[in-house]
Amino acid sequence: MTTKPAAAAARATVYGYPRQGPDRELKKAIEGYWKGRVTAEALRTTAAGLRRVNWRRLADAGIHEVPTGDFSYYDHVLDTTVAVGAIPERHRVAVETDALDGYFAMARGTQDVAPLEMTKWFDTNYHYLVPELGPDTVFTADSTKQVAELKEALALGLAARPVLVGPVTYLLLAKPAPGAAADFEPLTLLDRLLPVYARILADLRAAGAEWVQLDEPALVQDRSPAELNAAGRAYRDLGDRTDRPRLLVASYFDRLGEALPVLAKAPVEGLALDFTEAAGANLQALASVGGLPGKRLVAGVVNGRNVWVNDLSASLATLGTLLGLADRVDVAASCSLLHVPLDAAAERDIEPQILRWLAFARQKTAEVVTLAKGLSRGTGAITAELAANRADLASRAGSPITRDAAVRSRAAAVTAADARRSQPYAERAAAQRAHLRLPLLPTTTIGSFPQTGELRTARADLRAGRIGTAAYEQRVRAEIQEVVAFQEKTGIDVLVHGEPERNDMVQYFAEQLTGCLATQHGWVQSYGTRYVRPPILAGDISRPEPMTVRWTAYAQSLTSRPVKGMLTGPVTMLAWSFVRDDQPLGETARQVALALRDEVNDLEAGGTSVIQVDEPALRETLPLRAADRDGYLAWATEAFRLTTGGVRPDTQIHTHMCYAEFGDIVQAIDDLDADVISLEAARSHMQVARELAAHGYPREAGPGVYDIHSPRVPSAREAAELLRTGLRAIPAERLWVNPDCGLKTRGWPETRASLENLVAAARTVRSEL
Ligand code: GLN
Ligand code: ZN
Repeated sequence: MTTKPAAAAARATVYGYPRQGPDRELKKAIEGYWKGRVTAEALRTTAAGLRRVNWRRLADAGIHEVPTGDFSYYDHVLDTTVAVGAIPERHRVAVETDALDGYFAMARGTQDVAPLEMTKWFDTNYHYLVPELGPDTVFTADSTKQVAELKEALALGLAARPVLVGPVTYLLLAKPAPGAAADFEPLTLLDRLLPVYARILADLRAAGAEWVQLDEPALVQDRSPAELNAAGRAYRDLGDRTDRPRLLVASYFDRLGEALPVLAKAPVEGLALDFTEAAGANLQALASVGGLPGKRLVAGVVNGRNVWVNDLSASLATLGTLLGLADRVDVAASCSLLHVPLDAAAERDIEPQILRWLAFARQKTAEVVTLAKGLSRGTGAITAELAANRADLASRAGSPITRDAAVRSRAAAVTAADARRSQPYAERAAAQRAHLRLPLLPTTTIGSFPQTGELRTARADLRAGRIGTAAYEQRVRAEIQEVVAFQEKTGIDVLVHGEPERNDMVQYFAEQLTGCLATQHGWVQSYGTRYVRPPILAGDISRPEPMTVRWTAYAQSLTSRPVKGMLTGPVTMLAWSFVRDDQPLGETARQVALALRDEVNDLEAGGTSVIQVDEPALRETLPLRAADRDGYLAWATEAFRLTTGGVRPDTQIHTHMCYAEFGDIVQAIDDLDADVISLEAARSHMQVARELAAHGYPREAGPGVYDIHSPRVPSAREAAELLRTGLRAIPAERLWVNPDCGLKTRGWPETRASLENLVAAARTVRSEL
C-alpha cells in the first residue's frame, strides 16, 4: 500500500505523558514532602525537571507540539478545580494559607477535614478527585499553573499546546457539594463557568499559546439532548470570543456519536477523535457530517491505553481515509499516555522476542511520529519502520505464546452446559444447607486479613534472596495458623486462610498462569502517588499447576469448620491487567475462566466446600455506551459461570463485589448464578439489601455490616442495628453477616475488635429471630 503525501504536513502530538519519571522520582519527592523530608522548593525543582525531561524527550522523538498543563502533583481534575476556583468551603482556609498544602489537603484530607471523593476516570484504572459543586459555587479563574507550565515549555523553544479538562466534562464529572440538594445538577452552572474558562484561555493566549486543547471525554458517553445542547452552547460561547487561542476539542475512550455533529458545527478550530476504540463508528460519523471542512482533525490512531505495538499499515490506511475529511490531519495517541508505563526498553526480564511486541509511552510516541511522517511524505519515507513493524507483528501473531493449540481447542469446545451448574439454585441451596449445617445469619469475612509489615518484609526478603522459599512459606503458614485460630476463637462460621501469600489479588494469579507477563518498571498511576504494575495478559492463558489449593488445604487441616477457598474472577483479572488486543476480550475472558475453573475444581477435590470468586471489577468494566453493555455482560457473566460451573450442587459458590451502587447490574449479578454474594453496604445503611430485594434477587447475600475503609471499630450494637435493617429486606434464611471487603489494609487490633463485635451482633440478632 502506498499513501500519497498529505497537502499540509501532518504534525505529531500527544495529549499527555506519564508524570512519575523513569524512577518514580515524582512519587518519592511528593511523599518526601508529606513526611517533611523534602522542601516545597525541592519538590518544585524535581517536578520542573521531570517536565523538562519529558518535553525534551517528546521533541527529540519528533513530536511537533508538546502538551503542557497535563503534569500534576496529584490529579489533573483537581488541578482544574483549582484553576476554576471551585475550592470546597471546608478546604478554603487551608488553600488560602498555603496553596500546596491546601492542594494536598483536598486530595488526601487532614485530621479534621475530609478529602474530595475519589472515583475512576471513565473506564480506566486512573482515579480522579470529584469536584463538589452547588448552587452557591462561585468560580474564579486561576491560570497560574497552566501559564507557568506553558512558559516553561516555550522557554525551551518548543511548540506547546496547553491541555485542560473541558468545561462540559468538568461539570459532568462533578457531584453536588455537601450542602446542596442531592439532585442538584452541576451542569446548570455552565453559564457561570464559561467566563472563567474564557479568562484562562485569554491568559494562555497572552502567554503565547497558539492552540489550547480542551478534553471532553464525557461526550463519548450517552448524553441527553439537554447535555448535548449544553456542549453546543459551551463551544459556541468560547468559540465566539476573540481574545482566545485556537481551540482543539478532544474526545477519547469511545465514539463521539451524537456529540460529533454538535462539535463539528461549533466555532472551534480543531477536533480530536479516537480511532482505536471506535474507529469504525467515528469514521462513519465523520463522513456523514460531511467531514470537518476548515478544521484541524487530530486522529488518535495509536492506542493510548494498551501496551501493544501499533499496526502501522492499518493506522496509515485509517489516516489515508481521513485525509479528505478535514482541512488538515494530525496524528496522535488515542488518549493521554498517562495510562501506560513509560518505557518498554527498561524491561530487562522480558524476553527480547516478546519485548518487541510491546509499546509503552516512549515507543508509542515514536509510532505517532512515524505515522505523521508517513502521512506527510508517503510510505516511502518510512519503509524501514514499516518493515520492522511488519516483522514485530508477524512474530507476535505466529508465536506459540499467543497461539497455544491446546488452550484454543479447549476454549472452542466449551458448551452451554459447561457454563451451567448441574442443578438450579433452589435445589443447590437445600443441598448446601444439609452439607454445611451453618446457623442462621452465618458469619464470614471477605478473604484477606491484615497484611502485616512482617509479611511484606518476608516477601521482599524472598525476592532479594535474603531468605529461601522454605523460610518464606513457613512464615505464611504461621500467619495462616494465627488467622484460623483467631477466627475459631471468635466464633466465625465460615473461615478463610487470610491470603497472606498474595502480593496482590490479580498479580498473584497472573504470576502463576502461562501467557501472563510481569514488568519490572511498568508503573502506571492509579491515583496520587499510588502506582501499580498491571500484569500483561500477552498470550493464551492456562494454569500449569494449582495456585491456591495447598494454602486453603493447610488452613482446612487446622479446623473442623469450613474454610472458604478464595479466587479472583476472570473479569477482574482482565480489568486490572493489560489485555491483548488481537482477539475479542470475551475470548481472553474464556481462557482465564477455564484456567480458574481448573482451580475451583481442584479446590473442591481437595475438600473445600465453599469457594469465593471475587469480581469487584464487574461493574467498572461496563462499557461507556449503554448500547455496548449487553454484549459485555453476556461474556462477563458467562466467564464467571464457566469458572464456577463445574462443582457439585452442595459446593457453595460465593462472589464478592465492593461497591454500594449496582442497581443497574442486578440482573447481571443474578446471571452469575452464584449461591452467595457479599457486597459493600455499611456506609449506605444496607441500601444494597433493599435494592436486591426490590429486584427480587432470590439468592443468599451478605451486605457488609463493617466498613473496612477506616480504622474505626463498629460496636456490636451498631452492627446488630444494620443486621436488623438488612433483615427487613432479606429473610434470615438468606442473610449473611460479613464486613464490606477484605481486611488487608487494616491493622490487627481494630480487625480483632471489629470481628468480635460482628459475631456478637450476629448472636444477638439470631436470638431475636
Ligand atoms: N478476597 C479479596 C480480599 O479480601 C477481595 C478484595 C476486593 O474485593 N477488592 O482482599
Ligand atoms: Zn471488596
